[in-house]
Parts: sequence; structure tokens; C-alpha cells
Amino acid sequence: MSSFNATAAAHHPTAAELYANTDFSSLNWLEANWAAWYLWMGDPVLATGVMSFILHEVMYFGRCIPWIIIDAIPYFRKWKLQPNKVPTAKEQWECTKLVLFSHFTIELPQIWFFHPLAEACGLATWQVPLPPLKVILGQTLLFMIFEDAFHYVAHQALHYGPLYRHIHKMHHKYSAPFGLAAEYAHPAEVLILGTGTIGGPLLYCYLTGNLHIIAVYVWVTLRLFQAVDAHSGYDFPWSLQHIIPFWSGADHHDFHHMAFTNCYSTSFRWLDFMFGTDDKYRAYKKRVAAVPKADRAKVEQAILEQAEREGIAAEKEAEGRWMAGKK
Ligand SMILES: [Zn+2]
Ligand SMILES: [Zn+2]
Repeated sequence: MSSFNATAAAHHPTAAELYANTDFSSLNWLEANWAAWYLWMGDPVLATGVMSFILHEVMYFGRCIPWIIIDAIPYFRKWKLQPNKVPTAKEQWECTKLVLFSHFTIELPQIWFFHPLAEACGLATWQVPLPPLKVILGQTLLFMIFEDAFHYVAHQALHYGPLYRHIHKMHHKYSAPFGLAAEYAHPAEVLILGTGTIGGPLLYCYLTGNLHIIAVYVWVTLRLFQAVDAHSGYDFPWSLQHIIPFWSGADHHDFHHMAFTNCYSTSFRWLDFMFGTDDKYRAYKKRVAAVPKADRAKVEQAILEQAEREGIAAEKEAEGRWMAGKK
């Protein structure tokens, strides 16, 4: 009998029980709907899991749609970073199928396990009122800096022979990326690089005990937008890197896919600049900028083709080193 009571006491509380002492009249529109979602779902673990997964799908594919449209309109071709390589509809569909498959098989369980893990670290989920916007944006900036540094190191490790050949090569299938290719990657890569995305919030929460999941949602949304845009293949005069000079943008990451080297970070240019892992990128930009306007298109194409050849050689070398070491 006593063991039955202990089990009953340890049961997971329902949303209705959690909100028993909440004053609903003091909540704003977002907070009232936030609580309404948890109350409607009943089970808070399920409510957080479903909301996280839907948010990820909507934000990722939602951000890809404008790029799919831009790829279909020739007018925008003048801002394409590798204009001779526009993805076909078939290529985009093949990529979408694999990304969707990986979302349902690999990311869904990870999102699910995030709730208990986060609660163990003290993350607030169902709680209302929500933190002020100022606090959320400050935390998001910290997570961004953390992820950028984590990614810079982990991404370079993924370019080491055996890790490249078995894991990261898959993401490099597209030497001229497009938005949908942002999450086209090996499951192990999703796990390794995803640690940089959720590691920051978990660490912050563990250290301060003061984090609400809505800040994680704002951060993950920005991270998804950053990743999709970086793979878009377009550099517009109004792109963010022309406004914030240390922002990486598509220009930076597109070169990484073309040359299989340099530009390892995600959001910011500073680490590649500080450690000199953007030397080839900057030399390439300098050559393109030095070409007189009149014969730009032709010379640019020649420089592009040379960079592609060097990139393919660099990739072969990364693989070859591993094969030679194995023999
Ligand atoms: Zn890479
Ligand atoms: Zn990439």
C-alpha cells in the first residue's frame, strides 16, 4: 500500500495541477495562449515536445520557401554566388525527402528527450508569466556566441580525414548549396553540431537556474534562419553581412561548400579571421574585386572554376590522407 502511495506521489503532474495557483487575469495575450496550450494538451511533456517539433518544422521549411521561389526566378540570378549551379526542382525534392526523414527519425526523439533533460537543468517550460523581451534577446546573443565558437571547433574536427569521410562528406554533397540543404547531413553530424545549439541554453540554465524555454525557441528560430540563409547561395546588396561586417552570411559559407576548406564558423566571421582560416576566401574575394567591370563575368567565371578545381583537390586530399593512413 505504501509503495502504491509513493508511486502516486511521484506521478507527473497534469497541466491543470501545475496552474492551480496561477492568476490568469494578470497574463498578456501570449502568456494566456501559452498556458491554454499546456492546459489543452494536459500532459506538459507532450505539450513541450509537440510544440518544439512543430516550431522546428514551420520555421525551417517556412524559411526555405522564399529561397525556392527565388531559385525559380531568373531575375535573381545576378546575385547568385555560383550562377552556373542553380538547383533543379528534382534536386530540391530529393534533398527535402531526406531532411524530412531525418527530422522524423532522428530529431523527433532528440526533441522529445530534451524536456526531461531541460527540466533536470531547471528550465522553465509551462510557467507563466514569460520573461521580458530584453532578457530573452540578451540570452539569445550569448547562445549565438557560444554556438559559433563550438561550431568553429567541431566543424574543423569534422574535416579531419576519417570524420570527414564517414560523417561530414554527406553535408558537402552540394558544392553550390541551397536553403533546403542546410540540414542535409549525417545523423551523427546532426547530433554533434546540434550540441552547440542546445548546449549553450542547457549550460546557462544549469549555471543560473534562470531560463525559460521561450528564449530557447527564439534562439533556435534565429539559428534556423541563419543556417538556411547561409546555404541560400545568394548574396544581395541588402544581405545582413553588408550591414553588419562581422556577420558570416551566405557569402562566407557558400565559399566553404565550393572550396571544401576555410570559413568554418556559423554566425560570425571573427574566429575564422583571428585564426587565419579565411585566407583562401579572402584571396578569392580580392581576385574577384580586382577584375575590371567590363570583363567581370568572364574572368569571375574563370576564378570560380579554378576555386572549384582546387576545392575538389582539397576534398580528395582529406579523404586520401585517411585512406593512406589505413593501409
Ligand atoms: Zn564543412
Ligand atoms: Zn553547409
